Amino acid sequence: MPKPSRSGAELSTFLLRIDRLYAFSRLQQAETQIKSLERRVEELNLQDMVTGMPNRRHFSDRLAKALPLSHRHGHIVSVLFVDLDRFKRVNDLHGHAGGDEILRQVAARLQEGLRQGDTLACLGGDRFMILLQEIKDVVTAARVAQKLLESVRNPYQLGSVELSLSASIGVCVYPQDGMDAPTLEAHAESAMCRAKERGGDRIECFTTTLNEVSLERQELEVSLREALRNKELEIHYQPQFHMDGQLAGAEALLRWNHPTLGQVSPGKFIPLAEETRLILPIGEWVLREACHRMAKWQALSPRPLVVAVNVSALQFTSGDWAARVVMALAESGLDPTCLELELTESMVMGQGYEDLATLRRLREMGAKIAIDDFGTGYSSLGYLQRLPITTLKIDKTFITSLTPTDGTDSSENIVQAVIQLAHGLNFTVVAEGVETEEQRDKLEQLGCDCLQGYLLGQPMPAGEFEALLKSLSTDEARLEFMSNQHFLNKITPPPMK
Ligand code: C2E
Ligand code: CA
Ligand code: CA
Repeated sequence: MPKPSRSGAELSTFLLRIDRLYAFSRLQQAETQIKSLERRVEELNLQDMVTGMPNRRHFSDRLAKALPLSHRHGHIVSVLFVDLDRFKRVNDLHGHAGGDEILRQVAARLQEGLRQGDTLACLGGDRFMILLQEIKDVVTAARVAQKLLESVRNPYQLGSVELSLSASIGVCVYPQDGMDAPTLEAHAESAMCRAKERGGDRIECFTTTLNEVSLERQELEVSLREALRNKELEIHYQPQFHMDGQLAGAEALLRWNHPTLGQVSPGKFIPLAEETRLILPIGEWVLREACHRMAKWQALSPRPLVVAVNVSALQFTSGDWAARVVMALAESGLDPTCLELELTESMVMGQGYEDLATLRRLREMGAKIAIDDFGTGYSSLGYLQRLPITTLKIDKTFITSLTPTDGTDSSENIVQAVIQLAHGLNFTVVAEGVETEEQRDKLEQLGCDCLQGYLLGQPMPAGEFEALLKSLSTDEARLEFMSNQHFLNKITPPPMK
């Protein structure tokens, strides 16, 4: 065999080298690919498949890392365990694809309610865990939990279907409730289970101290549930007057005569009633009772009187609210034009087409629609034109500062602008919280239509309101009443808790 020439030998060595290099580079490429695949698998191992959020393993890692850091900086860390209530129903009704879509919406809402350093993890199914970093105390954690609870309650859209959900949230904090990640996770979960046992749609804290703090609230909640059954709720009626002194009607205001605490103010129990959804049966009772009374009182008045009923956001969006209003009117025989429904700006602003359509139907029947606390909410006024509104109630903060006694700026310009705006749109203007003669005179000068406030009458029990009506039933009495306003209520109501 001929020996390969030197150049031939060099060539074959060269080719061999190339071959090896090529093989080596392919190996490198393969390695890079494997590494990136490994990273992807690792990511997937740390990610929840449905939502793409961190999963439990990822969460536990982050929590374990956060603890020594917060220990060093003396910070508090909180773990929240969120479990949706009766989520199985969503899967049953809308299939797993629908259920997954809702889970993604829930995850997005929870994420929105958190700060940048916080972690939201999806544990699979309808369970979530949240790590709150650098918080002040357990009360702050409970407040965040409350905010999340509320955001979960807002309705969800699934295609053309709207559905609502609630959640149970367990809260615990480091270092009080546990020194390591597994203990904290377990304690947050056990607090969540307690929230479920208590009916769901609520928060429970693992910490004993906070449980003691919330005990008062929970006791109040238990007794509020009983209040309606035990007939402890009562409606007071606060008269409203036309500018010429004629009685226009009354606003129905709820009172709770607690057997041991005395009168509890609506400022304290209405938010609780909303949180616990008790406002639905309570609000319906107010509506029926107020319509019933006002239907009866019409006979005592020469002119039709209007009863104004406060409507809570939860009632308004409950789906069958309009039907319940119609029922209350039918049952009581009250003329729909004698019922005014008080809503707030925020309630009518963010509402979908359906809620506004029900409002329009009620308006078409003749019911009046008032915007309560006007001026304290949205600055956009465009909605006023689009909605079937009849009345604006100027918030009492503007009335109080109409004739300031402490040198602060007068709200006269604002009140004047609101009255002009309202009249331009054909609305009636009611000023609430009128306490002084000066305020009344100024409002008269500015062209306000109706007045409500302590100057003219405190909210009073039905019996007293009826007595007032009777005392005004003769022309003589009405004239006397209008000229010297002997009705000015000098009785100070009992202090409310
Ligand atoms: P609101 O609808 O703005 O009711 C007016 C509040 O101002 C009433 O407080 C009334 O007593 C008070 N007020 C009336 N005139 C004057 C005044 O001249 N000066 C001052 N400083 N205050 C005056 P109240 O009865 O404590 O009710 C507080 C809030 O509770 C109401 O505010 C309303 O938002 C809510 N609320 C009351 N009853 C019901 C109800 O049946 N359903 C719902 N959803 N909310 C209700
Ligand atoms: Ca009101
Ligand atoms: Ca008001």
